[in-house]
Amino acid sequence: MDIDSALISESPENEFTFIEKLKIPGLAIVILIVFLTFLFYFLDIEASYDPENLSFFLNLIFIGMPSVIIAFVALRSFLKSGAWPVLWMGIGTLSFGLSTLISSFLIGKAPVNDIITLHNLIIFFASLLYFLGAFFMINRVNQMESKSGRRNVILQVYLGSLIFILFITVISVQGFLPPFFIQGEGGTTIRHIVLGLTAFLFWAASFIILKQYFRTNSIFIYWYGLGLLLISLGIMGILLESSMGTPLSWLGRGAQLLGGVYLIIATMVIVKEARTRNIAADEALSSFFSLKKSNLEQLLKNVSDAIIITDSNLHIIGWNKAAEDIYGWKAEEVLGKPEMEFLETKYPHNMNQSHLLKDLNLKDSWNAEVIQKRKNNEDINILTSISSLKDEKDNFNGTIAINRDITLRKKAEEKAEKQARELARSNAELENFAYVASHDLREPLRMITSFLQLLKQRYDDKLDEDAHEFIEFAVDGAKRLDDMITDLLEYSRVTSQKRDFVPVNCEKILEETLILLKVPIDENNVIITHDPLPTVLGDDKLMVQVFQNLLSNSIKYRGLENPKIHISVKKENKSYIFSVKDNGIGMDPKHLKRIFTIFQRLHKRDEYEGTGIGLSIVQKIVHQFGGEIWVESEPGKGSTFYFTVPDN
Ligand code: ADP
Repeated sequence: MDIDSALISESPENEFTFIEKLKIPGLAIVILIVFLTFLFYFLDIEASYDPENLSFFLNLIFIGMPSVIIAFVALRSFLKSGAWPVLWMGIGTLSFGLSTLISSFLIGKAPVNDIITLHNLIIFFASLLYFLGAFFMINRVNQMESKSGRRNVILQVYLGSLIFILFITVISVQGFLPPFFIQGEGGTTIRHIVLGLTAFLFWAASFIILKQYFRTNSIFIYWYGLGLLLISLGIMGILLESSMGTPLSWLGRGAQLLGGVYLIIATMVIVKEARTRNIAADEALSSFFSLKKSNLEQLLKNVSDAIIITDSNLHIIGWNKAAEDIYGWKAEEVLGKPEMEFLETKYPHNMNQSHLLKDLNLKDSWNAEVIQKRKNNEDINILTSISSLKDEKDNFNGTIAINRDITLRKKAEEKAEKQARELARSNAELENFAYVASHDLREPLRMITSFLQLLKQRYDDKLDEDAHEFIEFAVDGAKRLDDMITDLLEYSRVTSQKRDFVPVNCEKILEETLILLKVPIDENNVIITHDPLPTVLGDDKLMVQVFQNLLSNSIKYRGLENPKIHISVKKENKSYIFSVKDNGIGMDPKHLKRIFTIFQRLHKRDEYEGTGIGLSIVQKIVHQFGGEIWVESEPGKGSTFYFTVPDN
């Protein structure tokens, strides 16, 4: 059976919750040991007890064996994942285990001073490796890509370390090294330096790792970090001891043994993790260092939405790259801290965070547009989608928010809305102005016309020919002005009189229009044909106006032949496209856009009567129906006017 499956199948069912409960006592023990170390140091009790094999057995059970297992799992983990921190942790654990195993084994067989020398040097070596692991962990230089390269590295590092440890052992036992310890007197200066450094490196590694605990909340990291801290304390203890076997010496050894126990607990967490996720222990180990970037992590990193995860106390435990970009806070600044501190949120409709949490309990997810603040205090519009996270027992376990920065979109929308409002207002003003102006202008105009006519009647005989002609021009001008004002009034009425659209039967509309145009149709021998016409949503009167204007133009701008007009309809997408085709004089294609503008004409008044407003009215009506109008024409080849009406 391989070691992973052995670990997996032998682990008890509920150890994880059990380990979870041990968290506080685990920390309490560490604090107690700190206290006792100081106490024993100051009491300086000389009594010593050091039976030959006790230390060896304890070390074998609590440090030696677990170290070998952890080192083996780490080795396999590195092979699979290429994760550097795992490699250094593995070889560090192995060296640490071997240092205690070798030195305990040699008790009674070699001089105490030599044993202490070799032990101290090997754990110094181990501390360097642990520190290297922790350093790689935070600096994210964490993956070796080449698989064959990994095998070579393992061979070199593990073998190299074993040879180094053996070498240290041999030269220590042979007495080639300066003594680190003199029984009864305590450590030498060189020992103090080496052990001091070792304790420091263990402490630094544990510090880095425990800091990661606040980021990841990983229980493995917790025990692993505390384990290293205990080892660091243990080394402090033996650094201060003056004789082996004294209470202080035992406290130091005890702290190291306990460190071993903590590492065993960390290993149990790996096993449990492996079992729940149905993966091998080595894979679980590398995942705890969050070294192998999973697809999910890659995704979190690359999405443009901020993804923010909190624990059940609403402390931030996840903050992706987009969150950094959107809010301006770096992950290191926010992780482990209350979300409230960073995400000051204005909720819609007098909501607040407690409403939201209540809502989340009922609905599992919540979406809204909210306003939050960037680090620089700028407001940002956020489209948020928050879901609650539940544990296996369906208890609230935190939240995950996917937040999209919609500030730019919001600003653009607001600007467009403002422009639309302003446009509507100025249009309304303009329409009102056109209506009032055309209405009121007619009054003085009528006065001018009637007084001119009065002038003509009263002074008929007193005026000469020229004067008569001038009065005629003036009357004609006034009449033209009156026509234009009438048309303008009609034009302004198209939108100033709001109508509700109703179904309009275009067959009937055409019939009505033909009645209105009976005289010009008869006079000009016009032939009008048409496709079956649909019923559309619009307004009867306006639709008559459209047909009347288009048909009367086709008659007015006729050619030499008798006018022939065909009205056809086809349906395209969601609109009806009407066309009115004639065989009239046609138009120069370069003027086709101009004719829909108010008072724009292509012909002089003495050629064709008109004010140039008919097509502008048609266009305005078609727009009001929600459609478009355009024309195709060539001089001498007739014109075809098209307009669309949406089919709702
Ligand atoms: P009006 O007919 O009073 O001049 P309109 O707005 O109805 O005003 O038409 C604008 C101009 O478009 C006309 O002066 C004419 O030059 C041109 N036009 C309109 N309909 C036709 C048509 N069926 N054939 C040729 N030209 C046309």
